[in-house]
Amino acid sequence: MAFPLSLEFAQSIFPLYDETHRGLWQRGTEAALNKAKQIKNQRPLVYFDTRLLEEINRREEIEKILLTCCSNGDFELMYMPLVDAKTYKIASIEVLVRCPPLQAMGIGPEEFIPAAERANMIGDIDTWVMDNALKTLHSLEKKVGYDGDVSINISALELYNNEFIELICGACNKHEVSHDRVILEVTETSYVKSTKDTIAIISGLRDLGFRVSLDDFGTGFTSINQLLSYPVDELKVDKSFVERIGTEGSEERMLNSIISLGHNCDAKVVGEGVETGYQCRYLTELGCDYLQGYWFSKPLTYFEFCDFYSKDHLVDIKTKISELKIIR
Ligand code: C2E
Ligand code: CA
Ligand code: CA
Repeated sequence: MAFPLSLEFAQSIFPLYDETHRGLWQRGTEAALNKAKQIKNQRPLVYFDTRLLEEINRREEIEKILLTCCSNGDFELMYMPLVDAKTYKIASIEVLVRCPPLQAMGIGPEEFIPAAERANMIGDIDTWVMDNALKTLHSLEKKVGYDGDVSINISALELYNNEFIELICGACNKHEVSHDRVILEVTETSYVKSTKDTIAIISGLRDLGFRVSLDDFGTGFTSINQLLSYPVDELKVDKSFVERIGTEGSEERMLNSIISLGHNCDAKVVGEGVETGYQCRYLTELGCDYLQGYWFSKPLTYFEFCDFYSKDHLVDIKTKISELKIIR
C-alpha cells in the first residue's frame, strides 16, 4: 500500500561564533524554523538576527512568569456581557482571563494564551478559569440575582484531552451550576483540526447539556467544512467583519451569508466587537441573535459587573438604538 508523503524544507542560519550567541542553537532552532515555514512563494530561509533573539527572550520570560502564576493561581477574571439582540437583556457573560504580572508588562491573553499552549501550561489555566468562572456564576446569582449563562473560553487543545469532560463536570458539581448554563467557546487553531476524537468530545459535551460555541468565525482556520462536521450551538462572527460595517460595500452580503449559515446549522449567531450603535442596529436587522462589544460594555471586574447588572444600563441603550437609522 502506498502512503502519501510530503517533505518540506526550511532553513535558518545562526551565528555561532561569539559569547552572546552561545546556546542559541538549542534555544532558537524551533522559532527560526517556524518563521522560515511561514515564508510563502519564496525560498524558506531565515537569518538569525537580534529581532528573533528578542522574540525568544520575550517568549522565555512569558513562560517563566506563567509557570509561577500557574503554581500560585495568580490570575484574575474579567466579565463581558453578551446581550440578547431582541430584548437587550444580558444573556451570558464571557469570562476573560488576565495575568496581573504580565498585564503590568502590557501582555494580555492574546499573547500569553498561545504561549501557554506551546509550553503545555494551558490545561492548568483552563482548569483555573473554569473553576473560578463557575464559582463566580454561583456567587452572582446569590448577590445580584443574575440568572443568565456563562461563556468560558477553552483552548481547542482541550478537545484532545480525554479528562476534560470529567474536569468541567466536576467543577459544575462543586459550584452547583447546571450544565445548560455553560457555553464553551472554542477557537479553531492551525494545529487543532476536526478529527473523530475532537468531534467525539464536542458531542459528549453537548450530550451532557453543555453548549459549544465556535469563536472568531470566518477568520483563518475555521472553515465551512469545520462547521458542518462540528455540531455547534453558537457561532461568533469575528469582530473584523463587524469593524467593516459602514465602511465597504460587500460586508452586508458576507455577514448575511454567515448569519444564514449559522441559522441553517441550527446555531445561534453572536456579533462580537460591536463598538457603535450603527453596528448594533445593523447586526440586529440582519438577524444576529446576540451582540457583544464595547458599545454595551468593556470587560468588567466582578464588582463593576454587579453594579452594571443592578443598574440595568441596557434600558438606556435600547432607547438610543431605536433612534438610529440604517442607510442602505
Ligand atoms: P476572544 O475570545 O475573541 O475575546 C474577545 C476579545 O476581544 C477580548 O480581548 C475582548 O476584550 C475584546 N473585545 C470584545 N469586544 C470588543 C470591542 O468592541 N472592541 C475591541 N476592540 N475589542 C473587543 P481579550 O480579553 O484581550 O482576549 C483576547 C483573547 O484571549 C480572547 O479572544 C481569547 O481567544 C483569549 N482568552 C481570553 N480569556 C481566555 C481564557 O480564559 N481562556 C482561554 N483559553 N483563552 C482566553
Ligand atoms: Ca471568546
Ligand atoms: Ca472572538
